[in-house]
Amino acid sequence: MPHRNNPEEEEYFARLDAEKKAALRKRLNVEHAAQAAEERKERHFMHCGKCGGPMAPKLFKGVEVDVCGDCGAVLLDPGELEQLAGEESHGLENLAAFFGLSKDD
Ligand SMILES: [Zn+2]
Repeated sequence: MPHRNNPEEEEYFARLDAEKKAALRKRLNVEHAAQAAEERKERHFMHCGKCGGPMAPKLFKGVEVDVCGDCGAVLLDPGELEQLAGEESHGLENLAAFFGLSKDD
């Protein structure tokens, strides 16, 4: 480590060091979040959110929904609720909009 006496120089290098550390910390946080999301997806993919049982795709009224083999819970992908509700059921569309499942998103 070179010896420095100039306070402005010291301040400059300290600031540079802090900025580098902050950038590295930010990058590691982003990488960690992405890795955690990947692990979470791997752990829960096609598993029931209620009982943890295996989900299997099943055709229902022309829509492929995922059904839990253990408890029978049904998982719908975005847009599938509207597909199943059809044109005549505005109540369900309103319900879908309420839950943020609108196709307009
Ligand atoms: Zn289940």
